[in-house]
Amino acid sequence: MRMISEEEARRRVLQSVDLLGERAVPLSRALDCFSAREVVARLPLPIFDNSAMDGYAVVASSSGKGARLQVIGEQPAGINRELRISPGEAVRIFTGAPIPGGADAVVMQEDTTREGDEILVNVGVDPGEFIRRRGCDLAEGQKILARGERIRSTTIALLASQGFADVTIGGEVNAAIVSTGDEVVMLGKKLDQGQIYDSNSILLQALVQRCGASVTLAEHCRDQRERLIEAIQRGIKSHILVITGGVSVGEHDLVQATLRSLGARIDVWRVAIKPGKPFLFGKAGGCAVFGLPGNPVSAFVTFLQFVHPAILKMMGANNLDLPKTPVRLAVDLANEGDRTHYMRGRIDNGTFVPTGRQESHALFGLSQSNALLPVAVGESLKAGAIVEVQTWD
Ligand code: AMP
Ligand code: MG
Repeated sequence: MRMISEEEARRRVLQSVDLLGERAVPLSRALDCFSAREVVARLPLPIFDNSAMDGYAVVASSSGKGARLQVIGEQPAGINRELRISPGEAVRIFTGAPIPGGADAVVMQEDTTREGDEILVNVGVDPGEFIRRRGCDLAEGQKILARGERIRSTTIALLASQGFADVTIGGEVNAAIVSTGDEVVMLGKKLDQGQIYDSNSILLQALVQRCGASVTLAEHCRDQRERLIEAIQRGIKSHILVITGGVSVGEHDLVQATLRSLGARIDVWRVAIKPGKPFLFGKAGGCAVFGLPGNPVSAFVTFLQFVHPAILKMMGANNLDLPKTPVRLAVDLANEGDRTHYMRGRIDNGTFVPTGRQESHALFGLSQSNALLPVAVGESLKAGAIVEVQTWD
């Protein structure tokens, strides 16, 4: 049966999903969202010249080793007393406090001896020393956030330093997850002969959340048409619906036919990747529907290759790719099959070592991995070769 190339499948998926509407959120809710606008600094950093140390603001030219200076006042952080000094004078100053007029350096407290209203300078300073100049870190008007850039903890700190309480982000994606299979049992239930626990549902919830999207619904459904119809109808109220299991060719694989019977359009089915060949994608009304194979590794790989970039596009990301890292291969690897093979492995000290069985059911090996190496059809790689792997954690 025909397979679609991986690139074509990704193209069709991404072409079918759009950026959702933007909105402003408080910084405290912006982590891992994507900025919908370019943001420029409205304040320089530092905002004013200030002291990097607890010590004394001085005129450097009159503050060599052995100099004796008159302390004419105190400048704490948090207010500006607008003090001024002349050569031979000093102002007691604290970290973060504004630099008094006339001062061009700060002597560390540890480098002075206080004697009443005077200090003895034990270590001389050069002009500029221990002064943090206005704008030396960031200039007013400088770009601080690109459109589509991921908002990280440090981005949030930078936005806060500018007094921005909110940030405008791309769409908020919500996802429904439906795991199918008569043998699959939800957590908390008793396992009978021939049954297995549902590990995909929780895996997909974690992956969806890791993308920065939220899970509105996660349910399990038997391999029964009526149950599946109901679950799909509930699921397609979300922006995306991720179904696992039931997308292959067996008599109990009902997902595709059920989706079609509900009027869904199927854009992708069967992709030339291993694991993950039965991957399915379609649209049901406005909802993007992903059918992932039930084998846990297949579900994982197809999520990262197709669902992840789709969610990121809906959220307004400018880079839809997984992070890539160059690593040294620990072993020879070859792909003699007819599909790109996503091998699971572990990066240890810059070296990639395959983990566990490279089979689509092998969840333990997957759980020990932290990188995916796509090996192209016909590719033969030697130990020691430098290759690029994808990471997700
Ligand atoms: P399917 O894609 O429905 O043919 O399922 C393929 C394999 O994945 C079978 O061995 C299933 O038992 C297993 N599987 C299906 N759904 C899940 C799930 N939610 N959690 C763990 N394994 C599953
Ligand atoms: Mg099944």
